[in-house]
Amino acid sequence: MSKLTDISYVRAVLSKHGFTFSKALGQNFLVNPSVCPKMAQMCGCGENTGAIEIGPGAGVLTAELARTAYKVVAVELDKRLLPVLEETLAGYDNVKVINADAMKLDFVKLIREEFGGGEVVICANLPYYITSPVIMRLLEERLPVNSLTVMVQKEAAERICAEPGTRESGAISAAVHYYSEPELLFKVSAGSFLPAPKVDSAVIRLNILKSPPVDISDEGMFFRVVKAAFSQRRKTLANSLSSGLSMPKAQVSALLKDAGIKENARAEEMTMQDFAKITEMF
Ligand code: SAM
Repeated sequence: MSKLTDISYVRAVLSKHGFTFSKALGQNFLVNPSVCPKMAQMCGCGENTGAIEIGPGAGVLTAELARTAYKVVAVELDKRLLPVLEETLAGYDNVKVINADAMKLDFVKLIREEFGGGEVVICANLPYYITSPVIMRLLEERLPVNSLTVMVQKEAAERICAEPGTRESGAISAAVHYYSEPELLFKVSAGSFLPAPKVDSAVIRLNILKSPPVDISDEGMFFRVVKAAFSQRRKTLANSLSSGLSMPKAQVSALLKDAGIKENARAEEMTMQDFAKITEMF
């Protein structure tokens, strides 16, 4: 068992370095000993596959990834954690910690410089305040990675993995399904973290697709349509698209009719193929 899941050890190291948890940075550190080994095993890193971690915190997942992957690059925004990580990861010579903001870092450059053309996966317990923007940023950049294995809040995990066309789906489901095949791997209770958050979490893996599941001539338009469609969940698709895309309702209704979509349809009933059809019509 990793000593980084021993609460008294973690508390002692953090307090030695004068560290206090920042809610704003989504700092809830994993202390459940079964979670990180499972994440490291299921994310697909190994002897020939490197790993990038976002937000190593005190290094509990980093250490597990370092035992499995030939190399780990961990990106941490909070400078106060650098001396902590130096101490907790002292035994691993295949880990590099970079002090940067995952929302701004050039991941394409990082992958080229740190991993050459080799296989890479991303594995992280994401800070909840940037879950969707980080996931979308990593997907949209079409990074040369095999998969993204991330821990997110349980509700976010369910939404992300929901198949477009089902009641649970949202704009993020359609966007994620455009780039990847998402899979909910396992749930993690709130009590697995220090400090414990209010809600449970889940680990999901987004297996990157070689090509999108639908043929679209204008990707920008596809994402505008999806965003507009879900902008007002209680309204019909025609109303949401009309206000989201600033188009007269009658014109939207006529286009939907031509696409074979019923008058009172709602965004959550639309499959990826439906969104593609609407995009082409518009
Ligand atoms: N991986 C650790 C674990 O599982 O115990 C910590 C996970 S904690 C939920 C999120 C981590 O992300 C924190 O260490 C936090 O400082 C870091 N973080 C927050 N915002 C970030 C950003 N924009 N870029 C990089 N790291 C960030």
